[in-house]
Amino acid sequence: MSTPSAPEQATALRTHLCGVLRPEHVGQTVTVCGWAARRREHGEHLAFIDLRDHSGLLQCVVDGAHDIRSEYVLAITGTVRPRPEGTVNEALATGEVELGECSVEVLSVAEPPPFPLDDRAADVDETVRLRHRYVDLRRDDMQRNLRTRAAVNRAIRAAMDDQGFVEVETPMLIASTPEGARDFVVPSRQKPGNFYALPQSPQLFKQLCMVGGVDRYYQIARCFRDEDLRADRQFEFTQLDAEMSFASQEDVLVAITAAVSAATAAVTGDEVTDVPRITWRDAMDRYGSDKPDVRFGMELVELTDVFAATGFNAFKASCIKGIRLEGGSESTSRSRLDDLTDTAKRWGAKGLVWMRVERGEDGALSLNSPIAKFLSEAELAGIAERLGAAEGDLLFLVADDWATTCHVLGLLRLELGRPPVDEGGRRLLWVVDFPLFESIDPATGRPVSAHHPFTMPHAEDLGLLAEVASGDGDAESLLAVRSQAYDLVLNGWELGSGSVRIHRPDVQQQVFGLLGISEAEAQHKFGFLLDAFRFGAPPHAGFAFGIDRLVALLVGEENIREVIAFPKTQSGADPLTKAPTAIDAVQLDELGLRLLPPPAD
Ligand code: ASP
Repeated sequence: MSTPSAPEQATALRTHLCGVLRPEHVGQTVTVCGWAARRREHGEHLAFIDLRDHSGLLQCVVDGAHDIRSEYVLAITGTVRPRPEGTVNEALATGEVELGECSVEVLSVAEPPPFPLDDRAADVDETVRLRHRYVDLRRDDMQRNLRTRAAVNRAIRAAMDDQGFVEVETPMLIASTPEGARDFVVPSRQKPGNFYALPQSPQLFKQLCMVGGVDRYYQIARCFRDEDLRADRQFEFTQLDAEMSFASQEDVLVAITAAVSAATAAVTGDEVTDVPRITWRDAMDRYGSDKPDVRFGMELVELTDVFAATGFNAFKASCIKGIRLEGGSESTSRSRLDDLTDTAKRWGAKGLVWMRVERGEDGALSLNSPIAKFLSEAELAGIAERLGAAEGDLLFLVADDWATTCHVLGLLRLELGRPPVDEGGRRLLWVVDFPLFESIDPATGRPVSAHHPFTMPHAEDLGLLAEVASGDGDAESLLAVRSQAYDLVLNGWELGSGSVRIHRPDVQQQVFGLLGISEAEAQHKFGFLLDAFRFGAPPHAGFAFGIDRLVALLVGEENIREVIAFPKTQSGADPLTKAPTAIDAVQLDELGLRLLPPPAD
């Protein structure tokens, strides 16, 4: 994305931005302000100073000015002139011109920057960058990322406003929300011993807005979750959060697609016209993931029936699938295969079968694998045929239960085939029909919610739910109950999720009952929502997607920290402000808190 072509942005101190000057300005006397990005001596008296502001660089030819150092803040007044023949810099937007006859005013001196602000910054230790984030933010990449982010927010707001959504701010100091992560808590001074939670999301408040007749709510909301940090996760993150009344899943998908499309168009110029859909079951079956990266193929291929009568013990499993790495045999050494086998075991597989596809002397294809001798001709032929094996390919098979087979091959597919973040285009996908429950807790024998406990079951599965809730049928069969929950996935990243909510007290009671949430507990945790529902709840549905993730993918960054102005490190610290910090005894006293000695390491 280029810098928005705002007007010259003249201020009291400058007439133009550095990056906007072009041959058409030749002859004009201008004043530009910024940081001295680079200084090169030019003969005895003259120096070239590249002056930088957010819009770009401008070469200024300065007489004297020996005391000017890197990152000094300058105001330079001079005349725009064409660069001498042969010195035009095509790589620079202002490369055809320079500022001559300059007078320089030093607005601020600067210590030498803690790291170079050019391409080399990418190799600088992240803690050093974050400790001096204000310097880091001056870099082109960071300026682009922040401005792209602002453009995305602006586009999303416009798209939501256009669709009649109303921006409502919900509180930051709340009682806990049921998103399933750990809360950040804030002690109350006025009610010692009591705590607010920071919102994991505005979930309950947006549902209250629906009861309150807001009809269509949205918010660019900051959410807080105390989870281990990763490349795509921070303690605090920003979501587009939305909720609609009298709406179906379809309505939400259309509204959110419009917002994502507007954001994408604002950055790339391309609208998103059609987002394909896949059911959760299909996504798991074909990609081994509920957030499939569909920029590449390598789909999981069903082989269970090929081994229905196998004599090979390791293949007497309820689910066998395979993937094919096209032309992968030659580039994959035996030691890499051993590593992959170990990795697959760490992911939960009992083993990993690999097969090199070779052409024998008789001209026929053969599968070369340590386990080939245990398989019948028909089985080997079945594998080759199903996977579309060709000479030079490498095949991988896993035999286990359905979930493990899909999971392990899904990870292996990514490991072997996933393109870099900035290749393969942007492939959005709706994953629909998620299960209502993700597992049965072995300790309690009860199902565990896959989304949150207010997610509406699939209309066709309400009967099954009612059956188990009334004591017929076993808990295991609940895993087949689908929900009206859906995720938006972009290049293998979960951008967001949402659901149609339960607004019927009888269904809500059934779900709470199955989850083992007693009436007392439900009342204690979200009594206010259940109470509100007694006063006339419209059917409603909603969604939230991560803006940090969307922006990162739009600018081709692997790590969301690159699109957040002041992020935390992987260990949750802020090297700039030193947060989290201790608080003093007076503050502790006021809050009625006493600290335990820190745990021994
Ligand atoms: N509150 C959910 C989340 O933050 C999204 C939703 O269901 O609307 O993930």
